[in-house]
Amino acid sequence: MDLINILPDSVANQIAAGEVVDRPASAVKELLENAMDAGATQIDLIVKDAGRTLIQVVDNGCGMSDSDARLCFERHATSKIHKTDDLFAIRTMGFRGEALASIAAIAQVELRTRLHDSELGTSILIEGSHIVSQEPTACPTGTSMAVKNLFFNVPARRNFLKKDSVEFSHIEEVFRRITLIHYDIAFTLNSNGRLLYDLKAGSLLQRISQLYGNPYKERFFAVEEETDIVKIKGFVGKPEYSRKTRGEQYLFVNGRFIKHPALSAAVEKAYADLLPDHSYPSYFIGLQVDPARIDVNIHPTKTEVKFVDDHALFAILRSAVKKALGQFTLATELSFDTPPEFNIPPAPKGYTPPAPRISYNPDYNPFRATPSQTHLHLEKDLKDFKDLKDPKDLNDQKEIVVPNSLDSLNSLNSPKMSCLQLQNRYIVTSLSSGLAIIDQQRAHERILFDKLTQSSNNAKTHSQTLLFPVNCQFSPADADLFNELLPDLRSYGFAVETLSQCTFVVTATPADLKEEDLQTCFDQMLADYKGATMQKFSNRSQSLCASLARQMAIRPGKVLSQEEMQQLVADLFACPMADTAPSGKKIITIVKPEEILK
Ligand code: ADP
Ligand code: MG
Repeated sequence: MDLINILPDSVANQIAAGEVVDRPASAVKELLENAMDAGATQIDLIVKDAGRTLIQVVDNGCGMSDSDARLCFERHATSKIHKTDDLFAIRTMGFRGEALASIAAIAQVELRTRLHDSELGTSILIEGSHIVSQEPTACPTGTSMAVKNLFFNVPARRNFLKKDSVEFSHIEEVFRRITLIHYDIAFTLNSNGRLLYDLKAGSLLQRISQLYGNPYKERFFAVEEETDIVKIKGFVGKPEYSRKTRGEQYLFVNGRFIKHPALSAAVEKAYADLLPDHSYPSYFIGLQVDPARIDVNIHPTKTEVKFVDDHALFAILRSAVKKALGQFTLATELSFDTPPEFNIPPAPKGYTPPAPRISYNPDYNPFRATPSQTHLHLEKDLKDFKDLKDPKDLNDQKEIVVPNSLDSLNSLNSPKMSCLQLQNRYIVTSLSSGLAIIDQQRAHERILFDKLTQSSNNAKTHSQTLLFPVNCQFSPADADLFNELLPDLRSYGFAVETLSQCTFVVTATPADLKEEDLQTCFDQMLADYKGATMQKFSNRSQSLCASLARQMAIRPGKVLSQEEMQQLVADLFACPMADTAPSGKKIITIVKPEEILK
């Protein structure tokens, strides 16, 4: 008895669909890729109920003829390759000719498409692989593909879907992976009737900030490299913006998002020990290689690829990223996260450092009423030894006056302690325990954080009315979030009113806030709130205060007057946790008297 029979197309397609379309997000990916392959410059994605009831992609690409419109739902129907050789030089996103056949097997699909030189278009309705209707129709040029009721005939699959918020976040991720690298195409994303993203064509950096918010513009270094085997173009995150999760790591090859552990390792290796433990750099890196030298046909969803020049690529990528980071590392030789000693770079070859000369007062008696003073000479030697960015810093103030009566930190308030600003980012002053080097930004962050958290705990907060109210505008998604955070912001002393769905007006700010750019401040706060920075804090109010404090704090590079430094140091020591910033980073490094003597 013969047992074997050939499966009907509809069943074969359903089986294939299991590989290609496992959730709404994968259908979104296939439809967006088709629109790009059609040469579209504007692509609109519309979803309802996280893609469960509707996924629609509208493009202004080449469109399809009447018969192509029918054929495109057949299995192995593709216009992108013709012969085996074509498989080894893929220049399009698709080529397997199975996506639409798979989707049409498990959903109700409505296609409307028109070629640029045709007067009329075609409209097709297909359900579970069966064409229900096809008729000429008046429609714009290009293609609209509407996928309704995904998995309507595969209840098992439908039941496996997660709740809408989860499925939608998968869709958003697919949208990011595609739109990030195709920054020359305009995209929109509309979910349940709300426009969430409206991305204009532009540069990669513009696209990054359209997707993640304005503050992202400042968080990256450009990476660029061109060799015979690869062209690299992208952005790598500054180490201080590293994250606790690997979330924002995007590698693209020839316009395709890929997962490639070895290449990702190359990028991370370039950072070496610039990153704190258990944190990961963010990056968006596009590689352009000869399509003949990669194989993208090793996995149905094409997120895995094989390179012919594996090892060379690895080395080139690592050194390109290193080069981009190089400029940064030079600027931060003095790191506060590598206690206990300073990180003084090795002396140049052949350089014999002169013996340190320190004069001190042998008659020093800490209990004497009027303190005598010790002069510590910071000679030019030090400057030669460690070439400071701005030699003026040392020349202007050659010596630090170190009074002797340093019995406690409180003594700071009595005779005002002399402070020295180093590299326009550190305040050097003297304490009973030694020479203190204070990171000005982190110190200020701590002070502001304490003030903000205190004001949110007290009923009455100090706020100042703005002379000119400031309007702030957000994307619809960010506006939702901002609305959610309004009660917290008000408790810190902000006065904010809603003008429209996405526009807010700020009429007062906390009394200490000297932030001129409120929009950036809030954008950053929202970005932090969405990001991994949240995890360190016990509650959301704390994390918000930390984020705001970070925005409002003085930056490295800001020149401070003697009075400002003294005020900052005094305010800092009034904080119960003066030695660590809200982020957990170290604020003060002490050089002990024994170490100075050495
Ligand atoms: P593939 O993309 O691998 O070729 P698909 O099943 O995704 O396979 O699509 C089949 C064919 O349908 C494509 O090769 C293309 O010719 C046509 N097609 C699909 N979507 C569009 C679109 N948005 N605009 C124009 N043609 C399209
Ligand atoms: Mg396709």
